[in-house]
Amino acid sequence: MLIKDLSKKLNKILPRQNYTTELEQRYVYSFDAWANPELGKKIADAVIFVENTQQIQSVVKFANENKIPIISRGAGTNTVGSCIPSLGGIVLNFSKMNKILELNKENMTVQVEPGAIVGDIQQAAENVGLFYPPDPSNLKVSTIGGSIAQNSAGARCFKYGGTKNYVLDLTVVTSNGEIIHTGSQTVKNAVGYDLNSLFTGSEGTLGIVAQALLKLIPKPQETQVIAGYFNDIENTVSCVNNIIKERIFPSTIDFMDKNAINTVEKFYPSGLQCDKEAMLLIEIDGDKENINSIRENVCKVLKDCNAANIRYSGTKEETDRIWNARRSSMAACAKLKPNVTTDDIIVPRQNLAKLVKGVQSICQKYDLTSCLVGHVGDGSIHPQIPIDFSNETEYKNYKLAKSQMYELAINLGGTISGEHGVGLAKKSYMNKVTDSGAIEYMRQIKKIFDPNNILNPYKIF
Ligand SMILES: Cc1cc2nc3c(=O)[nH]c(=O)nc-3n(C[C@H](O)[C@H](O)[C@H](O)COP(=O)(O)OP(=O)(O)OC[C@H]3O[C@@H](n4cnc5c(N)ncnc54)[C@H](O)[C@@H]3O)c2cc1C
Repeated sequence: MLIKDLSKKLNKILPRQNYTTELEQRYVYSFDAWANPELGKKIADAVIFVENTQQIQSVVKFANENKIPIISRGAGTNTVGSCIPSLGGIVLNFSKMNKILELNKENMTVQVEPGAIVGDIQQAAENVGLFYPPDPSNLKVSTIGGSIAQNSAGARCFKYGGTKNYVLDLTVVTSNGEIIHTGSQTVKNAVGYDLNSLFTGSEGTLGIVAQALLKLIPKPQETQVIAGYFNDIENTVSCVNNIIKERIFPSTIDFMDKNAINTVEKFYPSGLQCDKEAMLLIEIDGDKENINSIRENVCKVLKDCNAANIRYSGTKEETDRIWNARRSSMAACAKLKPNVTTDDIIVPRQNLAKLVKGVQSICQKYDLTSCLVGHVGDGSIHPQIPIDFSNETEYKNYKLAKSQMYELAINLGGTISGEHGVGLAKKSYMNKVTDSGAIEYMRQIKKIFDPNNILNPYKIF
């Protein structure tokens, strides 16, 4: 316990039902989706379920005065240890602040609380003919607060960009308990520094998002999904570039390799074709009049790239089925071994084939099963590796493989994360991919916003 009589002190600022110091609760809120057997046994001192901005302010002021770390937590699905209370402290949980407050059709904006689920925001927008494109694969559980803090992207990033492209204004509680607005109600804002972008992707280290105003766009009239299967990786990946060269602009160009397809089919049968080396999952959208001609253009490129089989889905049920299959890949991998790790590396698209083949051969060299999925339109892949951490050789091999995958991505002009962030997992690689002067400026920014280092301390750096 960092602070004596914590319960008594919290009682003064919060209703009793808004926090817990029960060991079991503190324990379960001390992990996230980062699989790492070397994590210390540090657990949170209290978990606080805030209900409104004023409660966030009271907690932050209390924590700042007493120099207690605060770890904001959405659904805890980040894969880099961003929610781990590595120094103990208070976990701030937003599950009671999950409302969609106002959807303004005319302005095409939505005001939300930080615990609102990304999939629910998308659905609310679609119900009125609007569209919130960012779609982390786990959008049915991930929160908007967590997605803003990680600048989450997803498959549709290829055409529509990631979370940061939709943030108009954030209501942020700073480390001294002040409330600031980082943007404006307008879709453009050229006044001053772009604090929206600074806070988006800051992993809970600069301030606490209490509300967000997000931009929406008109929902495309029609959507179709095309699955192109290939007998080899080269053709699969060169097809990505050929689609773009043909000036076709799908909303997604996603990828699953043979292992990923087979693992999904083993545990969540979805009708994917298991005998091919890889599949491209291409979602197109547009007007009723032109969607079929876009599909024909995509299919032509797939054929020219020697796709062995091409299927497309026209109904919502078929589209949902194929996306559910793609989104189930990590859950399926988790069934192969006691643990599963997922990673996130990205290269300039022209080097994608080298990255995919390189990662496959690194995993083979170290006798690891790898299921590769990824948003290849952006040049990004997520190697998912089922593993038994209690097997020392396997764990040693995994660590070697991981660092070689990062080296490979860096040598191919890429970087160690396109969308999952740094957290604890990748902080030791920061200086390999980021200019040292830039890191120093980042540290100074952290000091300005959080001089006592209470907000998610020692994450990123
Ligand atoms: C199966 C699976 C698939 C995924 N697919 C994708 C994908 O396709 N694309 C992608 O980009 N990511 C993906 N992710 C990574 C991750 O889930 C996303 O980044 C997700 O949006 C995080 O949301 P969360 O609610 O779980 O956040 P959490 O993990 O709870 O938190 C993430 C970070 O946000 C901070 N935070 C949370 N709430 C606030 C707040 N109100 N104010 C300030 N900071 C806050 C936390 O401190 C932490 O640093 C995936 C993860 C899994 C497990």
